[in-house]
Amino acid sequence: MAQHVAPPTATTPDLPASLPIGAIVPWAVFFGVLMLALLYFVGAEQGATSVVSGEGVHEWVHDARHLLGFPCH
Ligand SMILES: [Zn+2]
Repeated sequence: MAQHVAPPTATTPDLPASLPIGAIVPWAVFFGVLMLALLYFVGAEQGATSVVSGEGVHEWVHDARHLLGFPCH
């Protein structure tokens, strides 16, 4: 009696879908610039480097400034 045994098939691991780099780069640049602006306003928006006059921005981000270790007062 002959038994039919299926030959072992090579299984390929499930690979993640590839992402086109051209679709990621503009968003990466956008969020990079956004994060740099946020870092500026948290870390350096005070005194001589101030873009917005007054202490309003500084007071809004004051806790984040201390949390990240920027010198303040
Ligand atoms: Zn402070």
